[in-house]
Amino acid sequence: MLWVEPTLPHPEDTLRDLRSLVRSALEAGLAGRALEAEQAQVLIDCDAPAEIAALIAVAGHVRTLLKGTVVTYSPKVFLPVTNLCRDRCGYCTFRSDPDDVQAWTMLPEEIRAASRKGRGLDCVEALMCLGDKPELAFRSYRHTLSVLGHEDTIGYVRQACEIALDENLLPHTNAGLMTRDELALLKPVNVSMGLMLENISPRLRGKGEAHYYAPDKDPQRRMAMMRDAGELQIPFTTGILLGIGETRAEVVTSLAAIHDLHQRYGHIQEIIIQNFRAKPTTRMATKPEPQNVEIAKTIAVARLMTRDMNLQAPPNLSPYDHRLFLRAGINDWGGMSPLTPDYVNPEAPWPHVAVLKGTCSSEGFTLQPRLPLYAEYVERTGFVDPALRPTIQARAADRGVSLC
Ligand code: SF4
Repeated sequence: MLWVEPTLPHPEDTLRDLRSLVRSALEAGLAGRALEAEQAQVLIDCDAPAEIAALIAVAGHVRTLLKGTVVTYSPKVFLPVTNLCRDRCGYCTFRSDPDDVQAWTMLPEEIRAASRKGRGLDCVEALMCLGDKPELAFRSYRHTLSVLGHEDTIGYVRQACEIALDENLLPHTNAGLMTRDELALLKPVNVSMGLMLENISPRLRGKGEAHYYAPDKDPQRRMAMMRDAGELQIPFTTGILLGIGETRAEVVTSLAAIHDLHQRYGHIQEIIIQNFRAKPTTRMATKPEPQNVEIAKTIAVARLMTRDMNLQAPPNLSPYDHRLFLRAGINDWGGMSPLTPDYVNPEAPWPHVAVLKGTCSSEGFTLQPRLPLYAEYVERTGFVDPALRPTIQARAADRGVSLC
């Protein structure tokens, strides 16, 4: 079903005439209660236009009540340290083997040059995004690392973060699955880190599924890493990937697992609701992409499950649905760059900030830059290495970001 923009009435007016299960779930949301998993399931299963409109109206109302009308983005430089990866996810065009013509590993001077250029364009975040554990799969890459003076990728990523810090950017690393020791090694040079859960279902690692050839996409290992990050007090970004073969029930279970982790450790700074894009050269080239209404419903359900957590949708992956996603309850667009493409989705350009600002404004929101860690973590004891605070405060002052 394709979404046709409705004229949204007041959220309470939308509840009349709905099925009682739907109405009671939405009333719970309006009354300030986080949804139970069963209620979330009822809502995500809604397919009638009136029910979907009510769900979106209520979720948008709750977002504005709890998060206000500021919507944020992070001005960033995307630094794909290496695109070598030992995994082979069914939808990925980022990864390479060492003998592919498009394989790369950035040199320290390239990391410095891009960081400096990005800083010159007012970027704040240095996103270190790379393939998973390539040194376990490729001897030639192990040789590259040794020439660079490192035994493993994470050691080199630490050096890359130091270079970015030296250029006055704030690093945020997503290097795939990491051990607790690796997280601890990177914490002093990162203001936050990330790992997409994607989905908690082990079924997606089965034969023929998206993660069959991706041992690092084992959901229990990813949950374990996120628990480690919580114990180490690392502000953390995660999220779900919609459209990779999961069921709606598995989406709800994944969101509940992320929410539970945050309840326990308080470290999940944002949840990304990302949509799968079918790309011609991949195993999943002919799989259907999730429709905008499914993404919007998921955002709305996530909002009602997680209440005041930060919810993000990547604006370049759904360029025609920004208004819909704002209405459904997001409060962040994630990283956007004036310098570098989205190397994971190079076919999808970032929107122009001025255009996105206009869209936000026409929906009653103010678009503002943020840091790669949310302001609430800056002063929380243990979450940020004190040595990083001066750079954090300087970048906040540059971009007019309030740390209160
Ligand atoms: S999505 Fe990530 S882990 Fe999967 S193949 Fe691509 S780079 Fe590797």
